This record gives sequence, C-alpha cells and structure tokens, in this order.
Amino acid sequence: MEKFVNELKEKLKEKGYKLTPQRRAVLEVIISSEGRHLNTEEIYDIVKKNCPDIGLATVYRTIQLLDKLDIISTLYLDDGCNRYEFNIQDGEHHHHHLICDNCSKVIEVKIDLLEKLKDEIQSNYNFVITDHKVQFYGKCEDCK
Ligand SMILES: [Zn+2]
Ligand SMILES: [Zn+2]
Ligand SMILES: [Zn+2]
Repeated sequence: MEKFVNELKEKLKEKGYKLTPQRRAVLEVIISSEGRHLNTEEIYDIVKKNCPDIGLATVYRTIQLLDKLDIISTLYLDDGCNRYEFNIQDGEHHHHHLICDNCSKVIEVKIDLLEKLKDEIQSNYNFVITDHKVQFYGKCEDCK
C-alpha cells in the first residue's frame, strides 16, 4: 500500500498537486476494494468511516483527479453510475469486464484474446497501441 501511496504522491507532485489526507484515503479505499468495482457513493461510504469530515463532492473530485492521472480506471455502465478500480501500473495486463445489463454486476475476465488483433491493427494502421479496454455487455448467470 505504501508503495502505491508514494507513487501517487510523485504523480501528484509532477502535476502540481499535493497528497492530502483525503486524497490518500480515497486511493486507499480503491486499492483495498480490488475486484469490487465500487461507484462514487460506495467509495464515499467507506472513506467516511476513517475521514468523517470528508464530503461527497471531495470524494467525487478526488476520483476525477485520480482518473485524470491514470491512477485509477473507470468502467462506464449503462445505469450512468461509473465504477472505479485501481490501475495496475507495472505493465501487467489489465483484465477485461463482463457487465450485466440487468443487475449491473461486473465480472472480471483474465483471459486476453486481443494480442493477435493488436499486432494486426498496429501493422495495418501504422498505429502504436499502448492500451485497450474491453467491456462485454449482456446477462449474467443469475439474470439470463
Ligand atoms: Zn445480472
Ligand atoms: Zn476490474
Ligand atoms: Zn486485453
């Protein structure tokens, strides 16, 4: 955790921001809720336990900042309620997501089918791909 907090501190400093206790608290919640894909309100509810003074607006702005700095990534759901998760920084492949249209459940997919496609796109379009995001929408086991 301390390693990630220090990385955040560096990234913030580069952009002229400070690591405030609130920003740290929000990051810690997102890191420790790995795999849960929390939305803003859920993050707020957990952060509030350790930082009772924090407001929803601060949590919201912090999330926007972390997203802008590429520290977290956003999942866009049809219900208009974005979910967030910590971005793996060490070049490890980022998993893909299955999103249920009905209950908004998010399931992580670790297999990657895109490596071949990536090579093909890179050579056909003369484009260097640094990242990709894939979300499959449909019905989960419980809802289908
Ligand atoms: Zn479902
Ligand atoms: Zn995920
Ligand atoms: Zn992939």
